[in-house]
Amino acid sequence: MSAVLAQLGTERRFWAPALETQSRADWDALKLERLRRHLRHAAEGSPYYRAAFAAAGVGPEDLRTLDDLRRFPTLDKRTLRDRQLAVPPLGDIVAVPERDVVYVCASSGSTGVPTASPFTAEDFDDWIDYEARQFWSSGLRPEDRYGHALNLSLFVGGPCVLGAQRLGALSVHAGTLPSERLLQIAQQFRLTALWTTPSYAWYLGETALKQGLDPRRDLQVRRLFVAGEPGGSIPQTRQRIEALWGAKVYDYYGLSDIFGSCAGMCEQQDGLHWAEDHIHWEVLDAAGEPVREGERGELVLTTLTKRARPMIRFRTGDIVSFTTEPCRCGRTSARLLGVHGRLDDMLIVKGVNLFPSDVEAVVRRFAEFNGEYRLVVERVQHLDRLTVEVETAPGFVGDAPGLAGRFAHALKSASGVSAEVRLLAPETLPRATHKARRVDDRRGALWG
Ligand SMILES: [Zn+2]
Repeated sequence: MSAVLAQLGTERRFWAPALETQSRADWDALKLERLRRHLRHAAEGSPYYRAAFAAAGVGPEDLRTLDDLRRFPTLDKRTLRDRQLAVPPLGDIVAVPERDVVYVCASSGSTGVPTASPFTAEDFDDWIDYEARQFWSSGLRPEDRYGHALNLSLFVGGPCVLGAQRLGALSVHAGTLPSERLLQIAQQFRLTALWTTPSYAWYLGETALKQGLDPRRDLQVRRLFVAGEPGGSIPQTRQRIEALWGAKVYDYYGLSDIFGSCAGMCEQQDGLHWAEDHIHWEVLDAAGEPVREGERGELVLTTLTKRARPMIRFRTGDIVSFTTEPCRCGRTSARLLGVHGRLDDMLIVKGVNLFPSDVEAVVRRFAEFNGEYRLVVERVQHLDRLTVEVETAPGFVGDAPGLAGRFAHALKSASGVSAEVRLLAPETLPRATHKARRVDDRRGALWG
């Protein structure tokens, strides 16, 4: 048993009690102090930040409160990629000499070019430590046997499994194995915990059943840590997986551009505790202003300690909501309530921002519809044309043109967008088993 564990004792509730239960004012004070130091480090070490701060007319000395961070420029995935290509191999957002970098996590992202997420030895150690803290909050203990069944290189990476090791659990670095082999390992080593994606947890459980294994009876897995898809925070999805496995499901949120996991569910399963001592969060509306607590906006992240490549106001493109209400577990860190979608899902039609969920809210108001719909966007003579295809409820025999007109009017007043409406018979639109495809954007097709 390591020295850390000898001090900790396995019955202890918190990994770092003073930190995890401090007041919100103490969290803010800790973040402000770290942020000041981190901005100075970024400006001194990174040519990119020096230029970006100068262009925005701000410097580290302008930060007096956490709110002052809003005066600093944001950056996005495209900038990460462009700076990396401009100054290979790691780019000039990096703020330490390359000899201090010991680990790179490569993520492909949507741009197709792998972007490197570099770590110093100290950064890497911080990551392992708070990964252990998050696992502890989800109930993982030294007696557990943990199987890591996510891709170890390109995805959130190896250090997550090292967090389980630091905590003292017996850890199996499984990676992505064929499911039959993974089930064999789970049986042979009597794994009690697994890390995977929600859809794979479901698939693996079903595969076990097909092989005549009942996960609830024939396997010992009692905790499933899931990440990479929204399912782990959707109660209905989580409960189905829990029933299949006879195990608890804990959702984690991560971003390889920063750390592997940034937040994880405690045993209360009520939101994901954010690693606020390492990463500051903002939730912003389209104008860049903070939304009220609990409301949805884009998640913008700022590292507080990661020395290799500070990320100052990184736009994640994830639409999220947060709460700072204390959790029933006693921890006081802010909780991520859910990732509600991607900014990428947003359509811009005739200059207006439109989410499929905006249309859905109007569709569901009409009893004459069965809830299924699709948005088709085309460009006709250089102008956007939006058509909403919507299925009527079974047995609908009313005034179809009148219904289409009322729906178009309701949509226009709710979203500001005018649309053509095409009513369809029930069961006309293609059904998806996993994720419904609500948008058919044909505008890009013009360019191949
Ligand atoms: Zn909690």
